[in-house]
Order: sequence, then structure tokens, then C-alpha cells
Amino acid sequence: MTGPLDVARIREDFPILTTPFKGKRLVYLDSAVSGQMPRPVVERMGRYAQLEHTNVHRGVSTLSQEATDRFEEAREKVRRLVNAPSARQIVWTRGTTEALNLVAQSFGRPRVHAGDEILLSAMEHHANIVPWQLLAQERGARIRVIPMDDDGELILDAIPGLITDRTRILGLTHVSNALGTVNPVKEITALAHARGVPVVVDGAQAVPHLKVDLQDLDCDFYAFSGHKMSGPTGIGALFGKAEHLEAMPPWQGGGNMILSVTWEKTTYMPFPGKFEAGTPAIAATIGLGASVDYLEGIGFDRIAAHEHGLLVYATEALEAIPGLRILGKAREKAAVISFVMEGIHPHDIGSILDHEGIVVRAGHHCAQPVMERFGVPATTRASLAYFNTEEDVDALVAAVLKVKEIFG
Ligand code: PMP
Repeated sequence: MTGPLDVARIREDFPILTTPFKGKRLVYLDSAVSGQMPRPVVERMGRYAQLEHTNVHRGVSTLSQEATDRFEEAREKVRRLVNAPSARQIVWTRGTTEALNLVAQSFGRPRVHAGDEILLSAMEHHANIVPWQLLAQERGARIRVIPMDDDGELILDAIPGLITDRTRILGLTHVSNALGTVNPVKEITALAHARGVPVVVDGAQAVPHLKVDLQDLDCDFYAFSGHKMSGPTGIGALFGKAEHLEAMPPWQGGGNMILSVTWEKTTYMPFPGKFEAGTPAIAATIGLGASVDYLEGIGFDRIAAHEHGLLVYATEALEAIPGLRILGKAREKAAVISFVMEGIHPHDIGSILDHEGIVVRAGHHCAQPVMERFGVPATTRASLAYFNTEEDVDALVAAVLKVKEIFG
């Protein structure tokens, strides 16, 4: 598809946006927390639940074979979405958090030893910090941090000096959920690879908004969540390079992930099966496939152009409000606006906005080190999606002005 988005038409796919909320029009500016699901995704999961449900990868029943086909088709859709070389390199997980824990446990644990270093960017979500801290504590390794500047851009010049012969992995978010910064993943990956360091990328905030090409980025691992990309909760994916997935041990054991089990010895399925113990989230996985179809049907060029237009519009309007400061002014920025207001706590802003039917997030956004870097306890964050409009932004700005009035 070409041309601008038909947002009015798209909004019809989201009953939550057209149903009055507290007697008002709902203004949903919290897609970075969780995106809304369009009707075709919900309907696809409903159809599965009502007419197609059974378990996958089991039995010879036609029902089970068909469920398995739909489940595996979703894997192929996700592969295509991120341009992974093979659908086998897409491992289903509960989400980004589980995917990153999988990498830390299965890839990290065997290669991180006492005195080794794990290099993370200063703008990681806790999901790409805590699993590495757990590992570092267990192994006696240490975490080092790539700093960022006052605009919320990583200081790339610092990276070569931070990579040492003890660096075992570099962890990086593609798009910062707290600041909106889009990081130059390809460039940083090349820097790390030049020194033999593998790169794990948190793509939770990138996949919903920009065209991700994993073969171009060349990172070793890439993690993302269904619920941030117009899909359901409980499903996400980890991409891994084939040589890593091949070498990595399973991290959870159980049914589905084995070839044979005896009391003496168990052999495992080839990847991705060996990482997918137990019954998976089948309906959610098929729903995620439907969300890929939906996003591709709109087109990422159009999504990115629409969201960028709204970002520029909202930034200008909010910046004009005296005493309001936006955190994160990266040149490459996704449609996330984190702001603070002089003398007013973000939770108070969030509550008043909520009263106006405007959903934003107020807090530390699971990125406390980012808050610390900017010397604030929390921010208010508006995050935009393809179904948002200038009217939504106008409502936000009007409500923020009201907050200012109330707090004088
Ligand atoms: N990384 C980033 C950048 C995120 O924004 C989030 C969700 N807030 C996560 C990781 C964690 O995702 P999930 O809770 O779906 O595992």
C-alpha cells in the first residue's frame, strides 16, 4: 500500500478506541507499555479457540496436525517480518523478558567466567539488565556500561575503549522505551564483531514501529514481544544465529523438547524445539501471526511516516508549554515522548490525564538507570502508534495545560 494512512478506517478495528471511556473518547497514548489488538487478531484467536483448538506437535489427529501447521505458519510470518534466514531461528518465548533470560542462561552461562565483562548500554530496560546481573553475580563477572549524552544518544566513541579481551557479550536496546532513541544497531554490532564480541539486541520497542532486517543488522540475538506489536500477551520471540542456537544447551526441560528419554540419557530436538519445553501459547502464537499480517497490510513505511509526523507535532506542542522538559532528543527517535514538569510529580500528571480519558505511563518505565542518568525519579510518557491522531495529541496538550493550571 502507498499513500498516507486511513486512520479513521484503522480505528474501526479497535473497539476500545471507539467505546466511551469514563464518558469520554479514550485517548490511548501507552502503546509502549502494550499495544492495542485490532479486531482481525482477536477474531483469529477466537476462531482458533472455538473451532481449531488442541495441542501442537502431538498425535496424528487431523486437528492436531492443522493446529501445528497454523502454529508453524506463524513462525514463518515472524521470520519474514524480521528477515531472519530461517524460521527455525525463531524461538517462541513468553516475550522479550523470557527471550533475554534464555540468552543469559543458555548462551551466557557457559561463556561468562570470573573476571569477564558484560557490556550493556546505559538505556537498557530492566529486562536487559537484571538477567545479566544475575549471571554476573553467579559467575563473578562485571557489568560495564556504554554511556549516553544529554540528548539520550549513546556515545559511540566510547565503545571501542569499553570492549576488552574480557568482554563476552554486548547487550543493546534497538529503541529505548524511556527515551525513544533509535540506536545504530548495525554500526554497534560491527564494532563489537570486529573484536569478536557477540551482540544481543532488545527489539521490544523496535519491531512494532520500523522495518527490522536481521540479516542487515547482523546481530547474534534479537528479542521481541507480541503484545507490543498489535498481538497478544504471553508470546514473543527470540531470533538467534544458527551456530549459536546449535551450540546452546536447553534451558528448560520437559515434554516437546526431546527426541528420546531414558533413565540414562535424554537427547534433544534440534533448535528451536529444544528451547520450547511444554505446551506453548498456541492461540497467542497464531494471534501473533495475524498481527504480523495486519501490520504488513498497513505497511511499515506508512506506519513510520505517520508516527514520525505525530512525534514532530506533539514535540512542538509540548515544548511550547513553559516548565515542561522532554527527556530524549535523539536525532533518530521513535514516537515516545518522556517529559517532566517543574514542581509536579509525574504520578499527579498521570492521574489527571487518566481522569481526562488519556492513558499514559507515569513512572520509571522499568529503566531506573535512565532516570538516574537524567536526575529524575520518574517521567510521564506518551507513546504513539499508527492509530493515534493529531486530535489525540491535542487532547494530551490540553490536559497537560490543565495540570499546569491546577498546580499553578
Ligand atoms: N525491553 C523493552 C525496551 C521494553 O519496552 C519492554 C516492555 N516494557 C521489555 C523489554 C519487556 O517486555 P516484556 O514485558 O513483554 O517481556
